[in-house]
Amino acid sequence: MSTDSQHAEGLVCSAKGCRAPAVWAVRWNNPRIHAPERRKVWLACDDHRPHLERHLETRQFWRDTVTVGELTEADG
Ligand SMILES: [Zn+2]
Repeated sequence: MSTDSQHAEGLVCSAKGCRAPAVWAVRWNNPRIHAPERRKVWLACDDHRPHLERHLETRQFWRDTVTVGELTEADG
């Protein structure tokens, strides 16, 4: 599937090679390099959300997943 249309906010899925509009914000933290309250964000389309969550979960980095509309300035 390919499209040139962009999400209103220009957010695209973080998965390698994926150009789909991001729907989900997968938030994670690596306690070895990040402060506990810090949240890194991977954007994900519907297709890639489970893959990204599982990848982070196996490393115990995954914290939570919200919709991109719920992201705040503090995220990233
Ligand atoms: Zn994707």
